[in-house]
Amino acid sequence: MSFTPEELREATTQLADTVARFARSEIAPHATEWDQAGEFPRQLYRRAADLGLLGLGYPEALGGTPAPYALRMPAWRALCRHGASGGVQASLFSHNIALPLVVALGAPEVQREVVPPVLAGEKIAALGITEPGGGSDVAQLKTTARRDGGDYVIDGEKIFITSGMRADWFTLAVRTDAASKGAGGISLIVVPGDTPGLSRTRLDKMGWLSSDTAHLRFDGVRVPARYLLGAEGAGFKGIMGNFNGERLGLAAGAVGFAEACLDEALSWARQRSTFGQPLVAHQVIRHKLVDMRQRICATAAWLDAVAARADAGDTSPDWVAEVCTLKNQATQTMQFCADAGVQILGGMGYMRGTVCERIYREVKVITIGGGTEEIMKELAARQWGF
Ligand SMILES: Cc1cc2nc3c(=O)[nH]c(=O)nc-3n(C[C@H](O)[C@H](O)[C@H](O)COP(=O)(O)OP(=O)(O)OC[C@H]3O[C@@H](n4cnc5c(N)ncnc54)[C@H](O)[C@@H]3O)c2cc1C
Repeated sequence: MSFTPEELREATTQLADTVARFARSEIAPHATEWDQAGEFPRQLYRRAADLGLLGLGYPEALGGTPAPYALRMPAWRALCRHGASGGVQASLFSHNIALPLVVALGAPEVQREVVPPVLAGEKIAALGITEPGGGSDVAQLKTTARRDGGDYVIDGEKIFITSGMRADWFTLAVRTDAASKGAGGISLIVVPGDTPGLSRTRLDKMGWLSSDTAHLRFDGVRVPARYLLGAEGAGFKGIMGNFNGERLGLAAGAVGFAEACLDEALSWARQRSTFGQPLVAHQVIRHKLVDMRQRICATAAWLDAVAARADAGDTSPDWVAEVCTLKNQATQTMQFCADAGVQILGGMGYMRGTVCERIYREVKVITIGGGTEEIMKELAARQWGF
């Protein structure tokens, strides 16, 4: 889909407005209650699908709506700003890290089987890469998929898997060549969630409370060989490419969550009075708000620039390095704004139910998931040839 600059501006504003309305009315009012319950209702997937949000960026033939990054990133930012729940965002959109690999590498009949029901909000998809033995060093993963006639038989474990308790489909990284120790023996395969031999254990965590996170065990899980995504041994390249989209999405989300902290802090600073004047009239508080906004503006401008390069088809080492460092920049912006927001709210910022309190707990995972801060720097250094 191609847009003139004018059309893109209009479509972006319209979509961001729709998303903001959805997030304000159907996520934000329930975020605390869903955190307490440890999950959000499954019907939210249908609602997001009806608005076209789950299918954004996917081919029409599979039930999606093609959309450039320049359109998707502002929508994602608006969802996180106005919904202000990392837990909902992580699980409601877990398909965005699982399905791109199916669309890019899956056989047409596998794409048709897996993708449309997920984009319609009827099924849930999750990505399983990380293992108890390590997440950063993907090339060392140990879960095996052994060819047996027309099937693959999978044995191993995955950990910290978002939507892992509820997922109907897993996109799984496996080692198909047991003899190979490195990246060369890694493949990707889809696994139906109801396959015998797959067991799941719920994990409790610091934030993202309404998102289900699981430890998965695969004991002789048998799936048809047609579920292999791409060629045997070609999985590592697919995983690395997929990370770029995930990291851009995380950066956009982090900007949105930073904005959510600023919104709440500004509103609080206007209505609360100390020493005879509103908080916002105290220069120290005003400057904290300006510092938040300054970081948000700078990060958002960089996000737009990196997204525009993606839409122009740039996959150069320099662009990859910018994606990695943008993820770190956006996370630090979110950390700064969550910290300043809690401080401006004072004791109230430490109480469950405020946006700043939730985001202060949730930001830590953004420094870890989708590639840790340290690994982002390593990758960037390598891409830039330092
Ligand atoms: C809530 C949550 C949801 C998640 N969802 C998913 C999911 O849906 N699917 C999925 O596959 N994974 C998921 N993850 C896993 C996440 O991607 C990993 O936790 C992450 O990649 C780090 O891997 P690790 O935890 O094994 O840490 P390790 O790789 O063991 O690293 C531990 C620490 O050492 C540092 N470190 C490692 N190597 C180096 C190095 N060479 N130089 C410097 N420092 C280094 C790391 O930066 C980190 O600080 C999720 C994690 C969380 C917490």
